[in-house]
Amino acid sequence: MPTKPSDRDQIAVRERVAKGIRLLVREGLIPNAGHLSYRPKGADWFWTLRHVHVGLESIGPGDIIACDMQGNAIDSPWSGSGERFIYTGIFARRPDVRAIAHFHPHKATVFSVAGRKLLPVLMLGAHIGEVPLYEKPEPVESPEDGRSLAEALGSAKAVLMSAHGAVTVGESVEEVCALAVMLEEMARVQFEASLIGEPRAIVTKGKERVFEAAFRHFQEVLWDHHSQAPENKPFLRGGG
Ligand SMILES: [Zn+2]
Repeated sequence: MPTKPSDRDQIAVRERVAKGIRLLVREGLIPNAGHLSYRPKGADWFWTLRHVHVGLESIGPGDIIACDMQGNAIDSPWSGSGERFIYTGIFARRPDVRAIAHFHPHKATVFSVAGRKLLPVLMLGAHIGEVPLYEKPEPVESPEDGRSLAEALGSAKAVLMSAHGAVTVGESVEEVCALAVMLEEMARVQFEASLIGEPRAIVTKGKERVFEAAFRHFQEVLWDHHSQAPENKPFLRGGG
């Protein structure tokens, strides 16, 4: 039986998507807008955030709606975000991808404006590898733009969107959140390193499993932190 939005076990999945969005808000990666989508195993539809501008720090499972692969809401009075074509484009091109986050990280966006490449500069984020740049600065509000963004992403784990933001992709909500937090952290560190010298990328060749394990541990701890920590404390920079 294919998975349906009305299946009982999907209530917990909606809560996980909502928690992922709250995590990105607390981490400062969704300063005003942003969202996250998840395609359950065997589903030809996906969960996403309804079109909403305020109160993102306290959204719940009821704010998460199902959309078909054209981006139309299923059995809901609401619609998805104007940029839902980010999800239709990437899900269509990448069958391996189950979760996608779209966010607006400040430092990483500075790199896109300067036309500088983001490098895997930290041990915990070396696993991210190459981050391609999507050159169009317009919002992704048509199926065509969704397809070109997916093309720019290719087989990567993240894509930087020129003068706009970024997207991370993976197998789970937890993974795309950890990729998002680490991407912005590496942008901060690379920026600071460039003030005193030439930033160096970590070479992972032959040691891919070691760096993947380090990232997976970070992913787990980040998720746990946001299950337990007091409200609004970012994980890496809790002191501000
Ligand atoms: Zn956006």
